[in-house]
Amino acid sequence: MIRDHFRVLVVELSTARGTIVSLEGRDKEVGGSGLAALLFNNYGKFDKPWNDPSQPLIFTIGPLTGYFPLMSKTVCAFKSPYHDQYTESHAGGRSALSLRFADLDALVITGRASKPSLLSVGSRHIELKDVHYMWGTDVQASGKMIRGLTGGSGHRSILRIGQAGENGSSMACINVDTYRHFGRLGGGGVMGSKNLKAIVIQGDGTFDLPEGKEYSRLFQEVYNKLTTTDMMDKYHNLGTPINVAVLNKIKALPCRNLQQTSDPAIEGITGEKFAEDTLLRNTACSGCPVGCIHVGFVREKFMEPNQYLYRQVSYDHEPVFAAGSMLMVTNAFNVLSIIDMCEKMGLDIMSACVALAWATEAFEKGIITEKETLLPLTFGDAKGYKEATRHLGIGSNEFYQLLAQGTLKAAAHYGGEEFACVLGQEMAGYATGEVFYISEALGFRHSHLDSGGYSYDQKHEDKDVKKAVDFMVDDEQGRVLLTSMVSCLFAREAYKNELLADCLKSVGYTTIAENMDDLSHHIQKLRWKTRLATGFNPQTVTIPKRFTEITTWKGTIDIDYLTALKDAYAKRIVTMGK
Ligand code: SF4
Repeated sequence: MIRDHFRVLVVELSTARGTIVSLEGRDKEVGGSGLAALLFNNYGKFDKPWNDPSQPLIFTIGPLTGYFPLMSKTVCAFKSPYHDQYTESHAGGRSALSLRFADLDALVITGRASKPSLLSVGSRHIELKDVHYMWGTDVQASGKMIRGLTGGSGHRSILRIGQAGENGSSMACINVDTYRHFGRLGGGGVMGSKNLKAIVIQGDGTFDLPEGKEYSRLFQEVYNKLTTTDMMDKYHNLGTPINVAVLNKIKALPCRNLQQTSDPAIEGITGEKFAEDTLLRNTACSGCPVGCIHVGFVREKFMEPNQYLYRQVSYDHEPVFAAGSMLMVTNAFNVLSIIDMCEKMGLDIMSACVALAWATEAFEKGIITEKETLLPLTFGDAKGYKEATRHLGIGSNEFYQLLAQGTLKAAAHYGGEEFACVLGQEMAGYATGEVFYISEALGFRHSHLDSGGYSYDQKHEDKDVKKAVDFMVDDEQGRVLLTSMVSCLFAREAYKNELLADCLKSVGYTTIAENMDDLSHHIQKLRWKTRLATGFNPQTVTIPKRFTEITTWKGTIDIDYLTALKDAYAKRIVTMGK
């Protein structure tokens, strides 16, 4: 059912009380990213640290959630343990549809529970359960327990953390329904700081679809576009790991802590190789007919002579680059075994493995020793990396505790900042050139999905600073509109503005449909204003030397162009945030 306001459940953990709040702003902040920024401005404490109990942990969905295919994501917003500034992280699974069926546009969690707890919310209930016995369990073990404790299978969404989140790690993710994650910038650490092991959202209500023929006709048109054309084929077929071979071929795949951008051994971890050897099945977020989630398996001997167990592990380009090429682990099953350990610990795979790549080079150079790492770190040694990932998750010693706060924090202490592959946070799996570096280093979420900088690099040989910065700003605005709906960004080719406007009108959001340009501009500015007000200064961002040392198919990195891009984009961000 559509409404002209937001229906928000605000839960205070210290009292276990929930309040339904009606919030104005539907025709201005829309939902998703816009609603999250609005809520942070209402509930966030700009002058207090990320782990102050009063800080909110925010989950929002959008006006099209549940009405159209691939409108299947949830925005999670919080003050990040990584940089103590406002940020967003996005995930799918069943989270968005469960919030829609629970009749909520947003869930805001404040306070700190007195004991390790599980928060369960639905359309007619809120309950805070003491689950102290789950504290210290990994994501897989706690998942099993929570599924047994709570009903609503198929309608509920289970969000939970592992030991990394319990320890307040900046690299701790929130695992969503096993195969999806609010991955980056430490949302899991925020849950840990609130003594919150898990959140179960029960999608136990119903909602009416719009009457009349127009909505059904449009739904069918969108559905057909997504399933009968080749538009989404890449995502369903080999999935995003198709990028591994492509980037390796054009010398744009970060390998060996970005000492290389290509390596022949990568043929062991291409999307094709994963599909041939490891792929069991595809699965999908609720409300998505595409199914880009590729699930492989790891098999382990747990007892002699022949007792084995297996676990299903999902893989995408980013985890494969991080646990594979960045660490030079070039066997697909070995990559899955490292991903599996990250999953157990509740660590963001990209952040953790890029940090371990830095640690390996630092170890090779003698900057750190086994006294810090507790085992020898060697590129290609999957067994060693599995163990190091475990140490990183549980924070086995001071070195791993510091590394869990971010590679640059460890490098500032031990040395080696020049080869830390950090662009605002541990880098994503593209070494395409200057525009991508600046787009990720200064981008709002420090994500490769903030704007298509990696794609711009591959399509433009010119070095026109204004053109590149205009692209980043405009592309971000388009994406902000989608993340306010909240669409999966893989559908950005399908949901062009005209179609989005038709979809909005068909469910009754005519004012939003008629003002999309102004609204996305407003939300883009609001997000930046909020981020800057929590301390971000894009003008002080630095790009570690390693990024300037590589060669791509375009040749060496042009440092003057890189610097000019950084200065110009930083100025535009400051202007947007005014
Ligand atoms: S394309 Fe993939 S990530 Fe996007 S909604 Fe579908 S299954 Fe989820």
